[in-house]
Amino acid sequence: MKQFCEKTHFMSKRNLYFTAVLSGICALLLTACGQRVQTVQMADTAMGTIVTQTLYVSADVDEGEAVAREVIACIDALEQNYLSWRLEGTEIAGINAEAGSGRGILLSDKLADWLEGCQKVYAASGGAFDISVGSVARLWNIDKWAVEPDKFKLPTEEALAEALQYVGGDKILLKDNTITLPEKMQLDLGAVGKGIALNEIRKLLQEEEQVSGAVISVGGSILTYGSKPDGGKWNVGVVDPVDTARNIGILQLSGDWCVSTSGDYERYVEADGKRYHHILNPVTGYPADSGLRSVTILTRSGLDSDALSTACFVLGAKKGMELAKAFEAEALFVLKSGEIMMTEGMKQYFYLSNDRN
Ligand code: ADP
Ligand code: MG
Repeated sequence: MKQFCEKTHFMSKRNLYFTAVLSGICALLLTACGQRVQTVQMADTAMGTIVTQTLYVSADVDEGEAVAREVIACIDALEQNYLSWRLEGTEIAGINAEAGSGRGILLSDKLADWLEGCQKVYAASGGAFDISVGSVARLWNIDKWAVEPDKFKLPTEEALAEALQYVGGDKILLKDNTITLPEKMQLDLGAVGKGIALNEIRKLLQEEEQVSGAVISVGGSILTYGSKPDGGKWNVGVVDPVDTARNIGILQLSGDWCVSTSGDYERYVEADGKRYHHILNPVTGYPADSGLRSVTILTRSGLDSDALSTACFVLGAKKGMELAKAFEAEALFVLKSGEIMMTEGMKQYFYLSNDRN
């Protein structure tokens, strides 16, 4: 269809009459194509989280559903081949197993690229985002909170102090596509896996010509892609940390974006009347406490949005604002006080819910 329209444009230079006729046909076909845009919706689980998809496809529903299944397969493959530290046989598990061996491990191009991206955020955030946080994260046993909250045991200060010795992104040796970890260091890409998935999904959708638009959420990290059939904007809700069934506002977006939120309400556990959440301060080993309830990052790269939301949550609003700017990302902070702060650029996208005005 696109080619046909381009041809029409080319012919218009040679023959006006022809152009008029062909333009008419083209418009009719466009209408036909417009009518054929189908909406495919799918909810599933992958990467241990909920994945929801809305795809707009100029094809039959079953073709659209096939694309949605490809998206899930893509996320599964990322987890099972590269990212999970839990599953045997992933690239990350292989690297972790060699910590302290002194041997440099040759990385796939993809993982080398992602790790480089992570290290950029590590350096720029002064270590607030640190993929070497694995030994500490395991003591907190975050993955088990939802399934066995009663079994949660607060890590002892001694255990945390010991584990912290093996944390420090500056001790990761990453050079010429090889990586070497010091003894007992364990990589954990939990804070960035969903964002990496968004980037890979976008590449997949770009290969699928029949997909004209999509909005896909991987555990709350959201990809908007292309456009809506009605030409409207994508509405991405920003959850109210005080009442997570509601939105504090929405982002109105056009085209391709990634939106990630890190919040203390997303995963938490209680012990002795105290609440502990899943975003750790790599300096103290304890859940970060920088005066925030949540951070939402808007940028083109999913890796950046996911890593920066974690980093900004650890850093707090003031330093987080600077970090976001350094990555040309927009950021929105919900403070414990209920106040909302955001980068100047975020203001053009964010609309506060009516009842908060
Ligand atoms: P979510 O998975 O809810 O989106 P995040 O993206 O903020 O949350 O990532 C939290 C996960 O990342 C934790 O479960 C832990 O495995 C890991 N993590 C926690 N704190 C940090 C940190 N400061 N830097 C890097 N990874 C972290
Ligand atoms: Mg994150």
